[in-house]
Amino acid sequence: MTQPEDRCVLAVDVGGTTIKGAVVGDDGHIRHSLTVPSRADDDPVKAVRSLCLQLRDDALALGATPAAIGVVTPGLVDEVAGVVRYAANLRFRDVPLRALVSDDLGLPVAVGHDARAAGVAEAVAGAASGLDNFLLLPLGTGIAAAVVVHGAPVPGATCAAGEVGHMPVYPGGEPCSCGQRGCLEVYASAGGLARRYARLGGTPGADSRDIADAVATDPVARAVWDDATRALGTALATLTLTLDPARIVLGGGLADAGALFFDPVRDALRGALAWRPPPPVLRSAFGAQAAQVGAAIMARREAGLPVPEGWGTAALAPPVA
Ligand SMILES: [Zn+2]
Repeated sequence: MTQPEDRCVLAVDVGGTTIKGAVVGDDGHIRHSLTVPSRADDDPVKAVRSLCLQLRDDALALGATPAAIGVVTPGLVDEVAGVVRYAANLRFRDVPLRALVSDDLGLPVAVGHDARAAGVAEAVAGAASGLDNFLLLPLGTGIAAAVVVHGAPVPGATCAAGEVGHMPVYPGGEPCSCGQRGCLEVYASAGGLARRYARLGGTPGADSRDIADAVATDPVARAVWDDATRALGTALATLTLTLDPARIVLGGGLADAGALFFDPVRDALRGALAWRPPPPVLRSAFGAQAAQVGAAIMARREAGLPVPEGWGTAALAPPVA
């Protein structure tokens, strides 16, 4: 029988740019991590499978026995079937990820959606700890939300719930890669903000952090920042009226700007809600690590291991040497 100190789970966060894997100990500490480019291989599915195998071998070399693996991806993810129906950035279409990884590793496999997994992490140990109804919006390349209702992230009828990045916020506005105009993520995702800033004459190559730093002195930065916070406040008002969340948690590059970002977003939200108070809007506790911690929690649940309140906060500590 494996002793708890030797037991681990494997957690894999598949993104459009990189695939991040971690060996997570029973105490929630990350014992080892591994990152490869998503396009390291011509076939991104193969890249994911080889990273999973490598991670298992690394865990065994450390003397840790994996109990299960959790793999999360963007796109349309059918968590029950363990199939990624569609992920544009990864060129995934109907990939039976659970069956493939299970055949390769001989371990229980949980397959999940990255934003919903991030919501799981924030609920267990993060900024939404102990809450049954909340929203998490990571503001990254795009914007997909975890809509947590009665303690569980809602997948929707076609696994497409939470695609709030394509909510129209400025009807007839600027075109979005999805084919619509005026979508939230054109204005308020980290990627959208950088593209608008460059297009309107800002310093080429600036990212959301550079733009935040320039808000006080650069009128173009000020203008795109104001558009972003207003767009997000408007979208959050719609979501608040629909779902009545106890809290809204924001993550990603823009949330790193602190009060410069949160104050105008809270003002815009309050201003759009005439008859009810807004829910508190807080910063994500796990930030860019949320999806990976969520994948580890899903793996533990898949293996039948307990996930006590607060489990996973140790992942925020520096890796154990
Ligand atoms: Zn769109």
